[in-house]
Amino acid sequence: MEQCPVVQIISDIESIQTKCWAWRAQGATVALVPTMGYFHAGHISLMSWARDHTDKVVVSLFVNPTQFGPGEDLEAYPRDPERDAAMAREAGVDALFAPDTGAMYAPESSTWVGVEGLDQRLCGRSRPGHFRGVATVVAKLFNLTAPHLAVFGRKDWQQLVIVRRMARDLNFPTQVVGRPTVREHDGLAVSSRNVYLDPHHRAQAPNLYRGLQLAASLVEEGLRRSDEIRARVRDFYGRTIPDGEEDYLELVHPGRLEPMEELEGEAVLAVAYRLGKARLIDNIRISLDD
Ligand code: AMP
Repeated sequence: MEQCPVVQIISDIESIQTKCWAWRAQGATVALVPTMGYFHAGHISLMSWARDHTDKVVVSLFVNPTQFGPGEDLEAYPRDPERDAAMAREAGVDALFAPDTGAMYAPESSTWVGVEGLDQRLCGRSRPGHFRGVATVVAKLFNLTAPHLAVFGRKDWQQLVIVRRMARDLNFPTQVVGRPTVREHDGLAVSSRNVYLDPHHRAQAPNLYRGLQLAASLVEEGLRRSDEIRARVRDFYGRTIPDGEEDYLELVHPGRLEPMEELEGEAVLAVAYRLGKARLIDNIRISLDD
């Protein structure tokens, strides 16, 4: 049987920084995959892509408290570090960086990264402060690992756009790569938070993506107005996700995240829905250019 290489588990700030900077100095290309752990096929797809495109792959595993609001699921967030380490090893990851909160945030830590404007849209409205926490921790991870590439999932479209903007604005020498959403066989976007769904809600959850696909087909049929498209999708959700509650459903510009009244060129239809204990997000790219 082929032996999997050993993944190094590093929790110390100095050690990860020394290792990654040394790799860079030796001429190796380094990829970073930031995660909050509880790995699933979506995480693994990012690691595998990184494995295929760089010499060294670092995965960070950190449930970042600063991106959770009061009353959100920080304490309940699913964790299984041993299983994660085994899966990272299987995926060919070189280093798993798993710091504790005290190591990541020095006492009296008071410096924040805010990506103004973009952080107020979509999820930013119902999760104030969330993207400030995300941008800050990603900036810290970029400084610690100095990656040539950083790999993110398109499932969290707003996060990807914000991290890209931050890397550009702050001149990080890091290319931010977005990878496709991995889905269950029934179309539900794979997510660590899907464990919150009871069987009844799990049965309704795939309709979130079906509604987005419905929108794409309506556009193919010639619909262009955002309010008309969204009304049809809302109607579908009302019938197929009766236990859910919409947080938002918006047709936005893919880079600026501004709402579009009328579809032109490229857009993203993004949705957030509360279903039982879970808050699910998903999106679909809609293009008139294809
Ligand atoms: P998380 O651990 O949920 O913070 O996610 C870590 C990374 O995995 C982020 O870049 C996510 O966008 C990405 N990710 C989460 N779910 C998926 C998925 N279903 N497909 C692809 N990437 C994903």
